[in-house]
Amino acid sequence: MLIDRLDQYFQREERSRPRDYFYVSEVGKCPRQIYYAIKSFPRPPLDGLTARKLAVGDDAHKRLVQALYGMGIVVAAEAPIPPGNLFHGRCDVIVSIDGKNYVVEIKTAHPYTFDQMASGPRRDHYLQLQLYLHYFGIPQGIVLAENKATQELREFVVPLDGDEVSRVIRAFERLQQTIFVEGKLPPLPGSEEKRDWEFDQCRYCPYVSFCNEGIADLPGRARIAEPQPVLMTADEERTGPPTLFDDLG
Ligand code: SF4
Repeated sequence: MLIDRLDQYFQREERSRPRDYFYVSEVGKCPRQIYYAIKSFPRPPLDGLTARKLAVGDDAHKRLVQALYGMGIVVAAEAPIPPGNLFHGRCDVIVSIDGKNYVVEIKTAHPYTFDQMASGPRRDHYLQLQLYLHYFGIPQGIVLAENKATQELREFVVPLDGDEVSRVIRAFERLQQTIFVEGKLPPLPGSEEKRDWEFDQCRYCPYVSFCNEGIADLPGRARIAEPQPVLMTADEERTGPPTLFDDLG
């Protein structure tokens, strides 16, 4: 009676705008997926279940940030990276504890993902936080993760890792050259890129039909079958527009 209607209510098309920069949330994502997103290749609509999972994550973010405000330790929230950089994005919150500032990345995680984070943050979360530390010039930060099922919290305090930041920026400068300057489809990802993958992105990729054919241009959308909606795994943050391959958990 209601479920189909609710699914339709929440389902939405994902729109992308032309851009000449990357989102912090794209760190750890397949370069080809980034290309197809930037070039506005068609992708399945966001199904109702996935949209509701994203909404749960948004609610958790708001609840935790509100609590940090209540504790009187928030220095800034939703602060954007200074303009003119390779990346765009807004950090969740910056707090001050014992005279030190920390960038805080808030993540909500599926219980399975949460269990995997027993000894350290997820790699893509870590790299995203590293970029914020770099662009804000803050030497330390915290990945704060909440279990979506139990609301249990985990935190990982990490220092700025200059080597890792340099590696990520170099990789995205190369991607910038490939996509924005040469206008080419990036090659299939190799072991270097896959090192930053937290799950098999191909399995949930909304652009797999284009990728399999090595399609770099959209000659005419009518000639290409629109992909069917897919349900995603995963959790999380979005400093760019949410996408089907965001980690939903
Ligand atoms: S199918 Fe795999 S390699 Fe191709 S764009 Fe998608 S994630 Fe990348």
